[in-house]
Amino acid sequence: MLDKNTYRTDTLLAHLGNDPAANHGVVNPPVYHASTILFDSLEAYTELRKDPYVKGRSLYGIAGTPTTFAFEETVARLEGGYGAIALQSGLAAIVGAVTAFVGQGDHILVSDSVYKPTRVFCEDLLARMGVAAEFYDPRIGAGIASMMRPETKLVFMESPGSHTFEIQDVPAIAAAARAGGAVSIIDNSWATPLFLKPFALGVDISVHAATKYIVGHSDAMMGLIVTSEPYYVQVRRACALLGYSAPPDDVYLSLRGLRTLSVRLAKHQETGLLLAKWFQARPEVEQVLHPGLPEDPGHEIWRRDFTGSTGLFGVDFKPCSRAALVAMIDGFDLFGLGASWGGYESLAMPSGLSTVRSTSDSQTAGPRVRFHAGLEDPQDLIADLEAGLARMKAVDS
Ligand SMILES: *Cc1c(COP(=O)(O)O)cnc(C)c1O
Repeated sequence: MLDKNTYRTDTLLAHLGNDPAANHGVVNPPVYHASTILFDSLEAYTELRKDPYVKGRSLYGIAGTPTTFAFEETVARLEGGYGAIALQSGLAAIVGAVTAFVGQGDHILVSDSVYKPTRVFCEDLLARMGVAAEFYDPRIGAGIASMMRPETKLVFMESPGSHTFEIQDVPAIAAAARAGGAVSIIDNSWATPLFLKPFALGVDISVHAATKYIVGHSDAMMGLIVTSEPYYVQVRRACALLGYSAPPDDVYLSLRGLRTLSVRLAKHQETGLLLAKWFQARPEVEQVLHPGLPEDPGHEIWRRDFTGSTGLFGVDFKPCSRAALVAMIDGFDLFGLGASWGGYESLAMPSGLSTVRSTSDSQTAGPRVRFHAGLEDPQDLIADLEAGLARMKAVDS
């Protein structure tokens, strides 16, 4: 019944992947812990051995259980991809997806705005494998065509960028990659499968830190690779060769988190925009980095391609002393100091250590702080921010 294309996102979120009839009437698919998987016959085992990367099947526990397949199918359907592969972390999803396509002598193009560990993977492990990663200006758009070489195997995007929030022209970049014979990959963690549909924009592969909004409760790590049909087997095989696997309890938590993604994101979006606008009106603030704001340089493309914004954005403060920044951050009551966003709680984290860039000078005159708007009452959050700015001012005056 859910194969009909008529159900809308919220209905799919509530029902996809569930099979109470097969589970004693229990609503949620249970957790299966498995290493050994038994087969009925040597014939059945031999068949799967010949072609082991079939969607929804596993020869052995490392490739997943029925809980994993329910989660993978649900995400693939929501995002509009062919199949999904769940693995132990968002970083593993990035490494698995990229590794599937590169070898010695290859060249890849990577947005300068990527999550820092993506950059380090390129500069360290990939370089040692003989793969040359070249970083491009995230706002390059169709101009990326001039950077494509015969040996360019892959173009990697992340939009908006980590810490700097540039919006990329995803359809233009994906089209240039395809024209040059390279696969395109996007890190879609910020928008989730709900607010950006990369496959409809011509992207081949989407990766997610499901750890963030999909899990949504700051208590599990999870990565996802969603692929279009031609690349599913190649990517799943690479992940199997790397020994990647998603832990069963965390898969369960991820599927459970996914059920409420839409209602949580609506609130993250609303509070995120409210706080961003509040910061815009403050004299201590130089600029706010949030593509949902009309003043943001990425706003027009964001409106064209995305159907929503989430709770993560940046604030550039006017220059202040280190002690003033410390007083603001350390004294927050509700905004926690922590890296992994996407949970129900608000966060504030200075971006300084994470914004290395090759194509531009990423240094701002004052401190840049990344905020995550959680699910608390926005009035309480604003009171906490207001007290933070007062502490900042008190130190420097
Ligand atoms: C956190 C993050 C990741 C990595 O996810 P983990 O599950 O923490 O490994 C990847 N990409 C982006 C954009 C992230 O913010």
